[in-house]
Amino acid sequence: MSEPDQRDRAIRSARRLLSDLAADGIDYLPKPSRVAAPLEQESKPDTGEAGEERGRKIERAAVPIEPSLFTASSNESLDDIRAHLGDCTRCRLSEGRTQIVFGEGHPEARVVFVGEGPGAEEDRTGRPFVGRAGELLTKIIASVGWKREDVYICNVVKCRPPGNREPQMEEVAACRPFLERQLRSLRPRVIVTLGRPASQTLLGRSVAITKVRGIWQEWEGIPLMPTFHPAYLLRSYTRETRQAVWDDLRAVRARVEEDSDA
Ligand code: SF4
Repeated sequence: MSEPDQRDRAIRSARRLLSDLAADGIDYLPKPSRVAAPLEQESKPDTGEAGEERGRKIERAAVPIEPSLFTASSNESLDDIRAHLGDCTRCRLSEGRTQIVFGEGHPEARVVFVGEGPGAEEDRTGRPFVGRAGELLTKIIASVGWKREDVYICNVVKCRPPGNREPQMEEVAACRPFLERQLRSLRPRVIVTLGRPASQTLLGRSVAITKVRGIWQEWEGIPLMPTFHPAYLLRSYTRETRQAVWDDLRAVRARVEEDSDA
């Protein structure tokens, strides 16, 4: 494909993404990454004026270009952990599941998103966050210039709780060691917990998500950002909730880039 064709294709694809985001009420994007970006080079030079980032309108935003999201992982591989999980019956959630939803993404992702448990679509496909909430999560990830396949996505419990109820304490206790092993294997730069159950599982205490979201926490020395679950966003789709999640994700991106510069 010729260079002009490639450029036209990239522009069309960017327009589609921006149009999707605009339909979801997202009318600005964060400042593009400093990672070289073909279309970014064609955008207007950054004047460096304060407040430019926040007010940037979607029409003017450069195409999100994913920075490198990979880092070296530690000892135990995700495959080893999955193999150890096997055809797990460690808790009663095994009784109603179609299949285990272990998690997916890049094995050296620098950002890991943790939800609470699979829903119906995830149970059917074996993949995390593929229903409506998953589509929104994918858009949220794209809005900060990353691709879904560059991050890692998983849940606290790997089997669907009946009726999409919250996982119960003993179910979380049975499955949590596998989540923790996943996180130790990935050793990401940042963990993003989606909603209260995931946040309190990793923080080890009861939390109100409205109180802790947007405030940096820590899990085994890894910065952890609690934010709203996309399913909550779908239920409470206000300017404020959307703004809150996008603010949190921009903070996550800044943290990842800051660590990359160190
Ligand atoms: S939820 Fe976790 S511990 Fe329970 S059966 Fe499924 S994989 Fe095993």
